[in-house]
Amino acid sequence: MATRVGYFYDAAHVAHNSVSHPENSTRLTETLRTIERLGLNRTLVQIASTPATLDQILAVHTAQEVDLVRAASAQNRGFLDPDTYVTPDSFEAALRAAGGSIACVDAVLSGQVASAYALVRPPGHHATPQRPMGFCLFNNVAIAARHAIQRYGLRRILIVDFDVHHGNGTQDAFYDSPDVLYFSTHEYPFYPGSGDLREVGSGPGVGYTVNVPLPPDCGDDEYRAVYRDVLVLVARRYAPELILVSAGYDPHWSDPLANMRVSVGGFRDLLSVISLLAAESCQGRLVMTLEGGYNVQALSDAIATSLYLLQGEDTVVDTLGPAAAPARRPDVQPIIEAARRTHRLND
Ligand SMILES: [Zn+2]
Repeated sequence: MATRVGYFYDAAHVAHNSVSHPENSTRLTETLRTIERLGLNRTLVQIASTPATLDQILAVHTAQEVDLVRAASAQNRGFLDPDTYVTPDSFEAALRAAGGSIACVDAVLSGQVASAYALVRPPGHHATPQRPMGFCLFNNVAIAARHAIQRYGLRRILIVDFDVHHGNGTQDAFYDSPDVLYFSTHEYPFYPGSGDLREVGSGPGVGYTVNVPLPPDCGDDEYRAVYRDVLVLVARRYAPELILVSAGYDPHWSDPLANMRVSVGGFRDLLSVISLLAAESCQGRLVMTLEGGYNVQALSDAIATSLYLLQGEDTVVDTLGPAAAPARRPDVQPIIEAARRTHRLND
């Protein structure tokens, strides 16, 4: 029997929309259409959810942050910064996105499903405790992690963030805590500017933030090397009780906002590594939350492929195919070595 895999989808996300913005509702409506066309909805378990409570949001964000999002939404203020829009329905949509991420954690930790995918938007990983930014209103993955800590008493949660942008908000939320190990690969230097190798955590959190900043043009081979030679060692040493993934598919070669060369098959390989780590250390307990990915075809194919992989199936859905070879392949060995030295992974 195939592994039981859950997914969360709430049509209310469509009310948070700006048609000319890359982070628009077609990202998820097209993804759902793909899931239904492939019949994946018949084998997946749909996870029911309620909007996150204010207490759940306030476990990560300040009251000022929440008030800002609520007031801006209620007043239909438009843009909070040059990147981040709100509509009258955005506050509610953001509560539902956080709630869906929490529900996926509950479904996995209660044993209802082996793993789950929160198909949510607005995305979350740039939202810091103090402010919404970078298309993000509330930090879904951070809120889900905090829920796992507070509700289930977990003390070692690994967050793997493969979005092409650094998840500054998630890093900030747990920078001084060993309860969450935040691992990120991202294009660098790039938006939002953070994610240097030397950002490793503070106080009791030193060593529990692992950044692997990458040059442009990294493709499947470069990403595979980083995950094999850095993430695997980090995760085995940490022995997480739960793995959360900030799944951003904007490292795809076709993405309009970034400069990497990952293919759908490459994402599949990264998730395969993450999934094996979950099997090794936490009975496969894995929750994915959607972050970026702005070529809608690549996004929906990659999400479908991810869902197949979680179910233990090899199917790759890849309409666009692999990237063209770059003029010059980037050399990631120096950054891999530097990350291994910084985090004493060679000892
Ligand atoms: Zn991104």
